[in-house]
Amino acid sequence: MRIILLGVPGSGKGTQAESIKNKYPIAHISTGDILRNNVKNSTELGKQAKSYMDSGKLVPDEIIVAMIESRLNETDCKEGFILDGFPRTIPQAEALSTMLENLGIDLDAVIELAIEDDIVIDRLTTRRGCKSCGEIYNTTFKPTKVEGVCDKCNGEVIQRDDDKESVIRKRLSVFYEQTAPLIDYYRNKKLLVTVDANGGKDVVLKLLEKKRSASK
Ligand code: AMP
Repeated sequence: MRIILLGVPGSGKGTQAESIKNKYPIAHISTGDILRNNVKNSTELGKQAKSYMDSGKLVPDEIIVAMIESRLNETDCKEGFILDGFPRTIPQAEALSTMLENLGIDLDAVIELAIEDDIVIDRLTTRRGCKSCGEIYNTTFKPTKVEGVCDKCNGEVIQRDDDKESVIRKRLSVFYEQTAPLIDYYRNKKLLVTVDANGGKDVVLKLLEKKRSASK
Protein backbone atom coordinates (compact mmCIF):
# COMPACT_ATOMS: atom_id res chain seq x y z
CA MET A 1 0.00 0.00 0.00
CA ARG A 2 1.47 3.33 -1.06
CA ILE A 3 -0.49 6.41 -0.17
CA ILE A 4 -0.19 10.14 0.29
CA LEU A 5 -2.12 11.97 3.00
CA LEU A 6 -2.91 15.50 1.90
CA GLY A 7 -4.44 18.14 4.14
CA VAL A 8 -3.89 21.41 5.96
CA PRO A 9 -1.70 21.36 9.07
CA GLY A 10 -3.84 19.97 11.88
CA SER A 11 -6.16 17.96 9.62
CA GLY A 12 -4.98 14.80 11.42
CA LYS A 13 -2.58 13.26 8.88
CA GLY A 14 -0.32 11.92 11.63
CA THR A 15 -3.22 10.43 13.59
CA GLN A 16 -4.63 8.68 10.51
CA ALA A 17 -1.16 7.40 9.60
CA GLU A 18 -0.71 5.89 13.06
CA SER A 19 -4.00 4.02 12.84
CA ILE A 20 -3.09 2.61 9.39
CA LYS A 21 0.35 1.62 10.66
CA ASN A 22 -1.17 -0.30 13.56
CA LYS A 23 -2.87 -2.53 11.00
CA TYR A 24 -0.37 -2.71 8.13
CA PRO A 25 3.42 -3.10 8.35
CA ILE A 26 4.24 -0.07 6.23
CA ALA A 27 6.48 2.94 6.81
CA HIS A 28 5.01 6.19 8.08
CA ILE A 29 7.07 8.98 6.56
CA SER A 30 6.35 12.36 8.11
CA THR A 31 8.61 15.04 6.66
CA GLY A 32 7.69 17.33 9.58
CA ASP A 33 8.84 14.68 12.11
CA ILE A 34 12.07 14.00 10.21
CA LEU A 35 12.82 17.74 10.10
CA ARG A 36 11.96 18.25 13.79
CA ASN A 37 14.31 15.39 14.74
CA ASN A 38 17.06 17.01 12.73
CA VAL A 39 16.43 20.37 14.41
CA LYS A 40 16.46 18.67 17.83
CA ASN A 41 19.79 16.98 17.06
CA SER A 42 21.24 20.15 15.49
CA THR A 43 22.23 18.37 12.28
CA GLU A 44 23.24 20.35 9.19
CA LEU A 45 19.78 19.66 7.72
CA GLY A 46 18.14 20.82 10.97
CA LYS A 47 20.12 24.06 10.92
CA GLN A 48 19.07 24.71 7.31
CA ALA A 49 15.39 23.97 8.02
CA LYS A 50 14.81 25.64 11.39
CA SER A 51 14.16 29.25 10.38
CA TYR A 52 11.70 28.19 7.66
CA MET A 53 9.84 25.95 10.08
CA ASP A 54 9.69 28.49 12.90
CA SER A 55 8.10 31.05 10.60
CA GLY A 56 5.63 28.59 9.05
CA LYS A 57 7.26 28.66 5.61
CA LEU A 58 8.13 25.64 3.49
CA VAL A 59 11.67 24.30 3.54
CA PRO A 60 13.13 24.54 -0.02
CA ASP A 61 12.16 21.74 -2.39
CA GLU A 62 15.75 20.55 -3.08
CA ILE A 63 16.33 19.82 0.62
CA ILE A 64 13.04 17.97 1.03
CA VAL A 65 13.34 15.98 -2.20
CA ALA A 66 16.85 14.74 -1.31
CA MET A 67 15.61 13.77 2.16
CA ILE A 68 12.66 11.78 0.78
CA GLU A 69 14.75 10.12 -1.91
CA SER A 70 17.04 8.56 0.66
CA ARG A 71 14.12 7.68 2.98
CA LEU A 72 12.20 5.82 0.24
CA ASN A 73 15.22 3.61 -0.35
CA GLU A 74 15.20 2.31 3.24
CA THR A 75 14.11 -1.30 3.68
CA ASP A 76 10.98 -0.56 5.74
CA CYS A 77 9.45 1.06 2.64
CA LYS A 78 9.50 -2.21 0.67
CA GLU A 79 6.03 -3.23 1.91
CA GLY A 80 4.63 0.23 1.28
CA PHE A 81 4.49 3.67 2.84
CA ILE A 82 2.28 6.51 3.97
CA LEU A 83 3.59 9.93 2.98
CA ASP A 84 2.46 12.48 5.57
CA GLY A 85 3.34 16.09 4.74
CA PHE A 86 4.99 15.31 1.41
CA PRO A 87 4.61 16.36 -1.36
CA ARG A 88 3.66 19.96 -0.52
CA THR A 89 4.41 21.66 -3.85
CA ILE A 90 3.99 20.75 -7.51
CA PRO A 91 7.80 20.43 -8.03
CA GLN A 92 7.90 18.00 -5.05
CA ALA A 93 5.07 15.96 -6.60
CA GLU A 94 6.89 15.85 -9.92
CA ALA A 95 10.12 14.77 -8.22
CA LEU A 96 8.18 12.05 -6.38
CA SER A 97 6.70 10.82 -9.62
CA THR A 98 10.22 10.45 -11.10
CA MET A 99 11.48 8.67 -7.95
CA LEU A 100 8.61 6.18 -8.05
CA GLU A 101 9.10 5.60 -11.75
CA ASN A 102 12.78 4.81 -11.09
CA LEU A 103 11.79 2.43 -8.32
CA GLY A 104 9.19 0.82 -10.61
CA ILE A 105 6.28 1.43 -8.23
CA ASP A 106 2.93 3.25 -8.35
CA LEU A 107 0.88 5.18 -5.83
CA ASP A 108 -2.41 3.55 -4.78
CA ALA A 109 -4.21 6.69 -3.64
CA VAL A 110 -3.89 10.28 -2.51
CA ILE A 111 -6.25 10.93 0.36
CA GLU A 112 -7.34 14.48 1.00
CA LEU A 113 -8.44 15.17 4.58
CA ALA A 114 -11.01 17.95 4.30
CA ILE A 115 -11.53 20.24 7.29
CA GLU A 116 -12.47 23.85 8.07
CA ASP A 117 -9.81 26.38 9.06
CA ASP A 118 -11.55 27.37 12.33
CA ILE A 119 -11.48 23.78 13.56
CA VAL A 120 -7.81 23.47 12.67
CA ILE A 121 -6.85 26.70 14.45
CA ASP A 122 -8.68 25.51 17.55
CA ARG A 123 -7.05 22.06 17.35
CA LEU A 124 -3.53 23.32 16.86
CA THR A 125 -3.51 26.12 19.43
CA THR A 126 -4.56 23.56 22.06
CA ARG A 127 -2.12 20.85 20.86
CA ARG A 128 0.85 19.97 23.05
CA GLY A 129 3.56 17.34 22.58
CA CYS A 130 6.12 15.53 24.71
CA LYS A 131 9.67 16.66 23.95
CA SER A 132 11.03 13.20 24.79
CA CYS A 133 8.64 10.54 23.42
CA GLY A 134 6.52 12.62 21.03
CA GLU A 135 3.16 11.69 22.65
CA ILE A 136 0.52 14.20 21.56
CA TYR A 137 -1.86 15.88 24.03
CA ASN A 138 -4.58 18.49 23.82
CA THR A 139 -5.29 20.98 26.60
CA THR A 140 -9.06 20.52 26.11
CA PHE A 141 -9.61 16.93 24.98
CA LYS A 142 -6.55 15.07 26.21
CA PRO A 143 -4.76 17.00 28.95
CA THR A 144 -1.78 15.57 30.81
CA LYS A 145 -2.49 14.41 34.37
CA VAL A 146 0.14 16.83 35.68
CA GLU A 147 0.45 20.07 33.72
CA GLY A 148 3.50 20.07 31.45
CA VAL A 149 4.53 16.50 32.31
CA CYS A 150 4.10 13.52 29.97
CA ASP A 151 1.82 10.77 31.36
CA LYS A 152 3.86 8.15 29.52
CA CYS A 153 7.51 9.06 30.13
CA ASN A 154 7.53 12.07 32.52
CA GLY A 155 9.13 14.14 29.74
CA GLU A 156 8.42 17.84 29.31
CA VAL A 157 5.20 18.58 27.42
CA ILE A 158 5.34 21.77 25.37
CA GLN A 159 3.63 23.71 22.59
CA ARG A 160 5.43 23.58 19.22
CA ASP A 161 6.73 27.01 18.18
CA ASP A 162 4.82 26.68 14.94
CA ASP A 163 1.54 25.90 16.75
CA LYS A 164 1.21 29.53 17.89
CA GLU A 165 -1.81 31.17 16.23
CA SER A 166 0.09 33.66 14.04
CA VAL A 167 2.31 30.87 12.68
CA ILE A 168 -0.69 28.57 12.13
CA ARG A 169 -2.37 31.27 10.01
CA LYS A 170 0.83 31.56 7.98
CA ARG A 171 1.01 27.75 7.56
CA LEU A 172 -2.61 27.73 6.37
CA SER A 173 -1.97 30.44 3.80
CA VAL A 174 1.15 28.58 2.62
CA PHE A 175 -1.02 25.46 2.23
CA TYR A 176 -3.61 27.26 0.08
CA GLU A 177 -0.97 28.90 -2.07
CA GLN A 178 1.54 26.10 -2.55
CA THR A 179 -0.02 22.77 -1.57
CA ALA A 180 -3.70 23.07 -2.58
CA PRO A 181 -2.79 22.90 -6.32
CA LEU A 182 -1.86 19.26 -5.63
CA ILE A 183 -5.54 18.47 -5.14
CA ASP A 184 -6.26 19.08 -8.83
CA TYR A 185 -2.90 17.59 -9.83
CA TYR A 186 -3.81 14.24 -8.25
CA ARG A 187 -7.48 14.49 -9.23
CA ASN A 188 -6.34 14.67 -12.85
CA LYS A 189 -4.26 11.55 -12.28
CA LYS A 190 -7.42 9.82 -10.91
CA LEU A 191 -5.72 9.17 -7.59
CA LEU A 192 -7.59 11.63 -5.35
CA VAL A 193 -10.09 10.53 -2.71
CA THR A 194 -11.53 13.14 -0.31
CA VAL A 195 -12.63 12.22 3.21
CA ASP A 196 -14.11 14.27 6.03
CA ALA A 197 -11.26 14.79 8.50
CA ASN A 198 -13.82 14.93 11.33
CA GLY A 199 -14.84 11.34 10.65
CA GLY A 200 -12.68 9.90 13.45
CA LYS A 201 -9.12 8.61 13.74
CA ASP A 202 -9.82 5.50 11.63
CA VAL A 203 -11.62 7.22 8.75
CA VAL A 204 -8.77 6.66 6.27
CA LEU A 205 -8.09 3.10 7.44
CA LYS A 206 -11.78 2.24 6.94
CA LEU A 207 -11.72 3.72 3.45
CA LEU A 208 -8.59 1.75 2.52
CA GLU A 209 -10.13 -1.49 3.81
CA LYS A 210 -13.28 -0.83 1.78
CA LYS A 211 -11.14 -0.23 -1.34
CA ARG A 212 -9.19 -3.43 -0.72
CA SER A 213 -12.25 -5.60 -0.28
CA ALA A 214 -13.87 -4.05 -3.37
CA SER A 215 -10.81 -4.91 -5.47
CA LYS A 216 -10.74 -8.58 -4.34
P1 AMP B 1 4.28 19.46 9.53
O1 AMP B 1 4.54 18.87 10.87
O2 AMP B 1 4.08 18.44 8.46
O3 AMP B 1 3.18 20.50 9.53
O4 AMP B 1 5.63 20.23 9.11
C1 AMP B 1 6.19 21.25 9.91
C2 AMP B 1 7.04 22.17 9.06
O5 AMP B 1 8.09 21.43 8.43
C3 AMP B 1 6.30 22.86 7.91
O6 AMP B 1 5.62 24.03 8.33
C4 AMP B 1 7.46 23.18 6.97
O7 AMP B 1 8.24 24.27 7.42
C5 AMP B 1 8.33 21.93 7.11
N1 AMP B 1 7.95 20.87 6.13
C6 AMP B 1 7.42 19.65 6.39
N2 AMP B 1 7.21 18.96 5.27
C7 AMP B 1 7.61 19.76 4.25
C8 AMP B 1 7.64 19.63 2.83
N3 AMP B 1 7.19 18.53 2.21
N4 AMP B 1 8.12 20.68 2.11
C9 AMP B 1 8.59 21.80 2.69
N5 AMP B 1 8.58 22.00 4.03
C10 AMP B 1 8.10 21.00 4.81
